[in-house]
Amino acid sequence: MQTQASILVIYTGGTIGMIKDPVTGALHPINMDLLYQSIPVLKNFNYHIDSFSFDPLIDSSNMNPSFWIRLAEVIDENYEKYDGFVVLHGTDTMSYTASILSFMLENLNKPVVLTGSQIPLGVVRTDGRDNIINSIEIAAAKDDNTPIVPEVCICFENKLFRGNRTNKFNAENFEAFVSGNYPTLAKVGVNIKYKHHLILKPNFKKLKVYKVLDNNIAILKLFPGITKNVVNSILTITGLKAVILETYGSGNAPTDKWFIDALENAIKADIIIYNVSQCKSGSVELGKYETSVDLERIGVISGYDITTESAVAKLMFLLGLNRPVEDVKRLLQVSLRGEMTV
Ligand code: ASP
Repeated sequence: MQTQASILVIYTGGTIGMIKDPVTGALHPINMDLLYQSIPVLKNFNYHIDSFSFDPLIDSSNMNPSFWIRLAEVIDENYEKYDGFVVLHGTDTMSYTASILSFMLENLNKPVVLTGSQIPLGVVRTDGRDNIINSIEIAAAKDDNTPIVPEVCICFENKLFRGNRTNKFNAENFEAFVSGNYPTLAKVGVNIKYKHHLILKPNFKKLKVYKVLDNNIAILKLFPGITKNVVNSILTITGLKAVILETYGSGNAPTDKWFIDALENAIKADIIIYNVSQCKSGSVELGKYETSVDLERIGVISGYDITTESAVAKLMFLLGLNRPVEDVKRLLQVSLRGEMTV
C-alpha cells in the first residue's frame, strides 16, 4: 500500500505568489502559509502539503549564490521529511536556479519541481494555479514507491523539463520556457504522460549538498565588431577564473590574431575559456569550421550543447570545489546531471 505523499512547497518570491489589492490595484505577496486558501482544490489531493516562505521574498532578478545556498539548505534540512519539493520562483532566473540546484544536490532521489507564473495567483486568469497543481502532482508521483522524477525540473504550461536544459525565452506567453537540446520529460494533458526513458534514474545513495559556490566568472558574448578593448577588459579582470565564451553557431569565433592571442594568454594564466553557443539548439563542435580550429588548438573547452544558464551554474559549482584547474576542465566536458549530451 502506498502511504500518503508529503510535499514541501517552498516560496522564494516572484509573480506567482502575488495578489492584487482590490482597492489600490497594487500587487503584494500572498501569505503562502495559506496555500490551501489560495487554491482550495488542493484539499482534494490525498497529500500532506506544507509550505515554507523565504523572508524576505525576492523578485528572481535579485537571485544570488547566497540565496541558492540557503535554498539548498532548506531542501537538505527537510529532505527526509518529504517525498518531494515544489519551489515557487520568479520566471526570470528560474533556469539558473534549476541548473545550480541540479549540481548542488548530488544523489538527488526525490523530485524538486520549480514553477512560477506569468500572471499572479491572485488574478482571475492566472496560469499559476495550474502550474502549482501540476507541480505538486509531479512531485508526489511514484511508481512502486519510487519517485517517478527524481531530478530538478521545471514544470510550466503543461510541460515538464529537465531544469538544467531550459531557457526562459518568452516574457509574454504562458509558454515561457524552452529546452532546445533535450525533450520534455512529461506532458500534462488529461493524464500526465511521463517519458520514463528520458528521466534520470534514482541511485538510492545519500543526498550530498554542496554549499560553496565560486562566482569569479564572466560571460563574453561575441558580436560582429567586438573590440579588442572589450575582450581584453574582460579577460584581465582581477581574480577571474573562468569565462563563458558565447560563440556563434557550432562554436565559431573571429580568427583575428589579436583575439586568439588574448584568449591564449588568458588560458596560459589558468583562466578557463568555456565555449557555449549563442544558439538555443544544437551543439558546439570545435574544429568543424576553420573559425573554431584555433580555439581548439589553444585549449578552449567545449561546452557541447549546454545552455549558458547551466554553464554559469556548472562553473560556480566546479570552481567552488576548489579542485585543480585541469580537473575542472575535465569535468566541464562530462555530463554530471544530464546537463549536456557529449
Ligand atoms: N520578475 C519576476 C521574477 O522573476 C517575473 C516572474 O515572477 O515571473 O521574479
